[in-house]
Amino acid sequence: MLNKVTLLVITVLLLTGYPVQADNLQQLEKYQNELENVQEQLLIYQNNELNEQMKQEMIQLNKRVSELKGYVKAYEIAQTNIFIKQQLVKLDPNAKLFFPASTTRITSYFDNNRKHPITGENKAHIGIDIAMPGNQYIYAAENGKVIDVYKEYDGRMNGYGDAIMLQHQIDIDGDGQKEVVTTFYAHLMPNTTQVTEGDVVDRGELIAQMGTSGISTGQHLHFEVHIGNWSKQNAVDPMLFLN
Ligand SMILES: [Zn+2]
Repeated sequence: MLNKVTLLVITVLLLTGYPVQADNLQQLEKYQNELENVQEQLLIYQNNELNEQMKQEMIQLNKRVSELKGYVKAYEIAQTNIFIKQQLVKLDPNAKLFFPASTTRITSYFDNNRKHPITGENKAHIGIDIAMPGNQYIYAAENGKVIDVYKEYDGRMNGYGDAIMLQHQIDIDGDGQKEVVTTFYAHLMPNTTQVTEGDVVDRGELIAQMGTSGISTGQHLHFEVHIGNWSKQNAVDPMLFLN
């Protein structure tokens, strides 16, 4: 029974490792917290001889677990239904971003249909992963503005750990008009962020150090590029913008 609960919590953690829409995220986090609490309570029962009252309480807790499981499943379905449309942009070959890390070792590519390695579910990977141990530095991909700085435990970008969001004006199709492009840098090493919201950054400016905060199996930068404001739907393959 405990294994079931643990599995469930792991599922929730895995689930929150991927972006969901902001309003969903908040709700999902609520369920996740409650599940954690229920799990703790169940652990207490696990380690004790149960009297009749405790048995009844345990039944109630298990009921709640299956309810929560249902809610989480609903969010899961909503999430997998989100189809990320890669915007068809005719790229200007000169519209290249500054490579955002001090290592160019890419370990995972953008993939709209990636199967999750554990659950086997379709979970899109809307960025690229750049990984290398040791001191590695993260750079602003273009001149721009810091529009948000996230902390692992602020509950706003669950799973991404410490993260930075930048916004740029780039003529990506060479038509003379500038488009809004958002870049996102995740799993940063805590307390290495060099910028705060509202700062203006230069292309290639050091903004943080590579880390493994959030849901991450090792030190890496998860890097996303979006046309327009950040949303799951407008992520584009960062490799299109990198040399
Ligand atoms: Zn990634």
